[in-house]
Amino acid sequence: MRVSVRWLAVAIPLAVPALQPAAQAPARATTIVGAEVADGTGAPLRRANVRFSGDRIVAVGSGKPEQGDAVVDGAGLVVAPGFIDIHNHSEQGLSTDPSAASQIAQGVTTLLVGPDGGSPWPIGDYLAERARNPATVNVGAFVGHATVRRLVMGEDFKRAARPDEVARMATMVDQAMREGAFGLSSGLEYEVGGYGETSELVELAKAAARHGGIYMSHIRDEADKSFEALREAVAIGEQARIPVQISHIKLGTVGVWHQAASAIALIESAQKRGVDVTADEYPYNAWSSTITVLVPDKRYDYPPSVEKALADVGGAANVLIVRHMAHPEYEFRTLDAVAKDNKMSAVEQFIQIVKDGGAGVVCTSMVDDDMRAFYQRKWVMVGSDGGIGVRHPRGAGTFPRVLGKYVREERWLALPEAIRKMTSAPADRLKLAGRGRIAAGAVADLVLFNPKTVIDRSTFSDPGILPTGIEKVFVSGQLVWDAGKAQEARPGKVLSVKNGAAGG
Ligand SMILES: [Zn+2]
Repeated sequence: MRVSVRWLAVAIPLAVPALQPAAQAPARATTIVGAEVADGTGAPLRRANVRFSGDRIVAVGSGKPEQGDAVVDGAGLVVAPGFIDIHNHSEQGLSTDPSAASQIAQGVTTLLVGPDGGSPWPIGDYLAERARNPATVNVGAFVGHATVRRLVMGEDFKRAARPDEVARMATMVDQAMREGAFGLSSGLEYEVGGYGETSELVELAKAAARHGGIYMSHIRDEADKSFEALREAVAIGEQARIPVQISHIKLGTVGVWHQAASAIALIESAQKRGVDVTADEYPYNAWSSTITVLVPDKRYDYPPSVEKALADVGGAANVLIVRHMAHPEYEFRTLDAVAKDNKMSAVEQFIQIVKDGGAGVVCTSMVDDDMRAFYQRKWVMVGSDGGIGVRHPRGAGTFPRVLGKYVREERWLALPEAIRKMTSAPADRLKLAGRGRIAAGAVADLVLFNPKTVIDRSTFSDPGILPTGIEKVFVSGQLVWDAGKAQEARPGKVLSVKNGAAGG
């Protein structure tokens, strides 16, 4: 996305906090009374009152509300730092829907845009626009590898870049970092980024590293070549001396299912060598798209290609048809079941469905034991890969789903640890001092939720349904979500690798 360049003259200093009138600050302090505090560090829950004034937490403990304080009854609720989503696709959504209801309804108070190699450009202009038109949530940005690659190479991107082109891309990454980016993102499984060689990524990552940025990657393969792709990400970190964040870590085809232990061993041995590698994961074992994307060679009527495609997702029983105009009666049934009814093979049924206009499908991409193994590692955080308007249930469900399904129901994680993965872990990764923890002096980005009821409700057929159980959300001390409704306040700040430490 390109944004107008008319802010250029004012964008350079990124004087974001100064642009936001102090008059927005609440007139009085607020004390949340009687909630259990999950402070973001992973420490056990403890009963404490949390008092905040202006945009800062001023006390955590047994202190009673002072005279004139607004009092919030937290009985039965947990208060946590606002969730920080390190992988979010709301770059355009924040301008069209600054209330960001689908995000704050999940307890998200800070989101990072520009993942997977695609970002706004120039970053400074984009951030200046966000500062001029604030949202409910705080925002920071990555600069995308594919974005700068496309700007330098134009339509002629289907090849390795020449050294002079790599140098120009590196200059652009340098510029983006000066303008406030948190690092370089890549999407090496995609059309433009995929032509970039490892050495190109190393050069660009070095430019990000010079400014304290990280390298965040949708790695080159999440299927049969997952391990090569993980090794490449580690190598980029090692050669560029930059922290690496593996986006939405997964083992996405039958050929690599149940191998999380090997992937974990690969990453942890790199960590032992001193490479700083972490990851994030979304809590869904499926993707949704059109039925044809299953067949990478695009030979949809060629039985051997279709057969391989179905085998890669574990068979036709893992392909759920969610939309098919020609036969609506197939919807919400598996390809396997429909084929059996029609006395066809699954391959024949697939070919018939494509002939009849195609279908929307939801496909299993990961197995639970791999998902659980990743989530149970300390270095794996929660990230959504969602965002405003994203047509996947993770866009409106990720954080409540982890708390409801994977903490309360499946018991994969203890609540304080899950909260740590949503708060201090990404805050530390991004060097966001003053966020991601509940402590005196920290920014009052807070979420108050009911641990007994919190759950996602978004589905593959209805991805926009908001979750339940997130009762109140505060950003910089201002109420942005209350009892199921977005509020009027737009206290969201622009964060950058430069002002992050100051907390705005
Ligand atoms: Zn991705």
